Amino acid sequence: MSTTKIALVTGANRGIGAAIAEGLAERGMTVIVGARDARSSERVAGRFGGRAVPLDVTDDTSVRDAVASVRQWYGRVDVLVNNAGISGGATGQAPGEVDLAVVRGVFETNLFGVVRVTEAFLPLLREAVGARIVNVSSGTSSLAWQSDPGRSFASSRISVAYPASKAALNMLTVLYAKALAADGIAVNAVAPGACGTDFATALGLSLERTAEQGAGIAVHLATVPDSPTGAFLQDDGPVPW
Ligand code: NDP
Repeated sequence: MSTTKIALVTGANRGIGAAIAEGLAERGMTVIVGARDARSSERVAGRFGGRAVPLDVTDDTSVRDAVASVRQWYGRVDVLVNNAGISGGATGQAPGEVDLAVVRGVFETNLFGVVRVTEAFLPLLREAVGARIVNVSSGTSSLAWQSDPGRSFASSRISVAYPASKAALNMLTVLYAKALAADGIAVNAVAPGACGTDFATALGLSLERTAEQGAGIAVHLATVPDSPTGAFLQDDGPVPW
């Protein structure tokens, strides 16, 4: 069996996911770029000699096909990074104006997408020794606890569905960590602050466009301890929301 670690990153055709994919490849892993968009994912994979696999985290068939491809190529997955996520946009999330379709869409990607992908890839993660799952959460998942009533912060544009989906993802992470520790699979989450990706600019946040925070997350992933502890890793990232 090849000793090179096999990593799969979802939503890796741009933004933080692309930076994580590149960062893991720089650290010697064989990286699979999972994404809905074939052209951009192949471009990202081409930068470091990785592979691209079509992967829509909201689509059972797409996820099943991705599992079949990865099984055929490598027979296992050492690192799964559940990065794909959406904000839901700047409307339909404020209390009093909540659009349930927006809430459903956000949870379908940010929470159910992680469950769908994790469950589907578990057999391949179990084929690896000391596999890891890393969920990309968000600093907004805990910010509401810290801010004073009525205090506004940038993420108030995405004030209900998005932070709630990421808070649920945090709990999901803890539950999977506890359950999978016995299988030797470590499950963690990282919770970045605001990063200047398309995600942020679409919400009207003007941040310096940089992939550095994503690369920072990749360093974080590469330094998660080898022995699974069932621990939950919270990283508030360099820039608070
Ligand atoms: P971007 O909007 O730049 O990229 C989002 C990525 O997710 C894209 O590759 C997109 O693919 C993919 N994606 C969305 N829906 C699906 C789907 N159904 N199936 C597969 N891929 C999908 O966002 P970021 O890079 O900034 O965000 C990445 C992660 O980081 C998200 O989980 C986000 O919540 C989190 N995060 C971001 C922060 C920020 O400030 N940017 C802060 C904290 C956390 P496509 O190109 O096809 O749309």
